[in-house]
Amino acid sequence: MSSKAAIARAYLRARFPRKATGIIPTSPVCDEAQVAEHFAEFNALGLTLDEARTLARNELETGASPRPDYSFGLSTGTTGEPGVFITTQAERDRWLGTILGKFLAPPQLLHLNAALLLKHNNRLYEASHRVHYFDLTDPTAHWAPRLCDLAPNVLIGPASALGALADSAAFQRRPFRPHTLLSGAEVLFPQDREKLHRAFEVPPQNLYQAKEGFLAAGCRHGALHWNEDLMLLEGMRFKCRPDRVVPVITDVTRESQIFRRYRVDDVLVISQTCPCKTPFQKVTTVEGRLQDILLLHNDDGTHTPLFPLDLNQILSPAGEYALKQHDAFHFTLECAASPNPELLAALRKALNHPARLELVPLRGLPPGQKRRRFQRMFDPQNWLILDKLLEPATPLNRLT
Ligand SMILES: [Zn+2]
Repeated sequence: MSSKAAIARAYLRARFPRKATGIIPTSPVCDEAQVAEHFAEFNALGLTLDEARTLARNELETGASPRPDYSFGLSTGTTGEPGVFITTQAERDRWLGTILGKFLAPPQLLHLNAALLLKHNNRLYEASHRVHYFDLTDPTAHWAPRLCDLAPNVLIGPASALGALADSAAFQRRPFRPHTLLSGAEVLFPQDREKLHRAFEVPPQNLYQAKEGFLAAGCRHGALHWNEDLMLLEGMRFKCRPDRVVPVITDVTRESQIFRRYRVDDVLVISQTCPCKTPFQKVTTVEGRLQDILLLHNDDGTHTPLFPLDLNQILSPAGEYALKQHDAFHFTLECAASPNPELLAALRKALNHPARLELVPLRGLPPGQKRRRFQRMFDPQNWLILDKLLEPATPLNRLT
């Protein structure tokens, strides 16, 4: 049973958040692969990753957790097998209260009618009867009419699913205007932001939630702020691009899973201040996974990273697209419509005139699959990228 008092406490704390206190441990930085290998040391139950995954699948199929005090959820992994997150009821209450507190004022909370578009259901997301869940593994046409009937005032989902809803016949017939539009799980590129703003008549805000937890929340000014009330933050900067940072987190609130100097393999674009005056680290945007950064091969054998937002500036006029790098000299560009010669020339220049840039028609995304506009198919461990990062440092503001 969820505790209304616990949710209310977390809500109030999130309305008036304070930086978490604590000292960053001296232990070495760890990453997903290390945690997966030694998973038992990083959760309160001592489960291996395989055991946790089996429990999560079992819970997904039966709707009941095999271990009543804990819930096991599958995260929508961008790469490979889905990750697992383990939560207690107290953690779920705190999570819900915190999210509500970060995004909704008390009058909005009183009249909450939220729709959540998600691939995997999990008890984390079922903590309130005023939050309605829609399964993205079903085609849009299947759930869009029901969602439009509901006309939620809070709408939460990945940018591609929110875009598909905006394009759906159901929404065209019965559009609704949520007061809060939250986009998570995928990169929100500038063109997505514009499209969603136009369709729902409210600017989308980012909700940066990963299997590692609720990491950052969007503010009214289009930026995000790191949840420094929940965790201590360090950042590993790119030597060549100091505004690009890979976060390292130490979570001070979780009990069921331990995140201690854990490197989240995402790239953030950070900046200094925000008109909202939130004291927490401003993140202009989440640019993507490390695996989304492409690599140019230089003549001297070194590599230069190519960042998605830079390439998106060239590619976004082409409409929907996906650019894949198969090896140092082989790229594939999937496009909905054939791109014009100037755009292609600019892309070839940015890619250093690669030996092969193949053009292929864009494949539609199967229901529930994450949209990835950029993907590097080699160096899955990101060694060539990690090599370009500075040691973790904090606070991030002092380093620019
Ligand atoms: Zn702000």
